[in-house]
Amino acid sequence: MKYPFLQLSDVNAPYAEQLKEAAARVIDSGWYLNGNETKALERELAQVCQTTHALTVSNGLDALRLIFRAYIRLGRLHEGDEVIVQANTYIASVLAIHDAGLTPVLVDPSESTYNLDSSLIERSITEKTRAILVVHLYGTPCWDSKIKEIAERHDLLVIEDNAQAIGALADTPGLNGTNPTGGLGHAAAISFYPTKNVGALGDAGAITSSDTQLIDTARALANYGSDRRYHNIYQGFNCRMDEIQAAFLRVKLRHLDDESQARHLAACAYDEAITNPLIRKPEIFEGMRQVWHQYVIRCEERDRLRQHLLDNGVGTDIHYATPPHMQPCYEGTFSNPLPMTERLADQIVSLPIATITPSDAQAIAHLINTFK
Ligand SMILES: *Cc1c(COP(=O)(O)O)cnc(C)c1O
Repeated sequence: MKYPFLQLSDVNAPYAEQLKEAAARVIDSGWYLNGNETKALERELAQVCQTTHALTVSNGLDALRLIFRAYIRLGRLHEGDEVIVQANTYIASVLAIHDAGLTPVLVDPSESTYNLDSSLIERSITEKTRAILVVHLYGTPCWDSKIKEIAERHDLLVIEDNAQAIGALADTPGLNGTNPTGGLGHAAAISFYPTKNVGALGDAGAITSSDTQLIDTARALANYGSDRRYHNIYQGFNCRMDEIQAAFLRVKLRHLDDESQARHLAACAYDEAITNPLIRKPEIFEGMRQVWHQYVIRCEERDRLRQHLLDNGVGTDIHYATPPHMQPCYEGTFSNPLPMTERLADQIVSLPIATITPSDAQAIAHLINTFK
């Protein structure tokens, strides 16, 4: 295939030498958990997200689970509280809310941003609502003055699912384009799953927050509930990040800006070159920086378009074909209608983006334009 959807070896090839050096450094150190690499990565992540703290953990789902469970320990959330989340997210966002004994309330996304529709949030708020989980889906910040204002007025925690958007900048009123995702709300979860914009060579994740109590509680919960050696204040878990993954991630994080810029140029090339009226392109917004974890177009005859591209050597994917509320594990759980989520699930197609140059994007756009 000329343009596979995503080839992880291609993603990591430019950094192979630096990754091997990082691995050798950890192997030779004899220190494989809770060491200098995870500590340094925590400082570097806090800097990227402009928070005072970061906590390295095992994966993105665990980062979310720990945030919710830590806020329960701190008395900020209670079992049965409702958490608003967009219905077209990856299932991990919903699983984390449930896992902590909280109740996810699914809300349809906006057709223009694919993120939480702020005009639909208010009508989903009840006397049990205590938090909003904003998901920066596909690398587009889910943040506007309305979300901020609603959260403040109803005294809601704002938790960010930043799994797809590290390096993105939100458009915050009064602070144009300078607010990184991961530092917008009270606490945020990052995933370093290998396909994410900053990918480990295995599983890894992180929490970023300027709430010291939240970070201290999550850190203890992630390490058997211990606040110091052999002293357990909580019935905790083991959610630590390996030193070797932290060393790899420090290499990858150094190149985040270049990688985001390359994705931006590919997205702009797609945007300029795709002219087929059967295709709806994603919006490129002024005033914020999107990091294009996915470049998602829409087509009413999605499956026929995918076949056309496949026949011409272009791999595509769907994020996500079956929304969480339609998964077998949630049968009978959610009863509110989610027409936009279901319509999008039938129409969306993700084009290759991770290692795509502007000229690759033009060639793929040309193939899309021949679809009729
Ligand atoms: C990938 C992802 C997660 C989960 O991250 P893992 O590291 O795979 O556990 C959570 N939320 C969203 C939106 C994701 O894309």
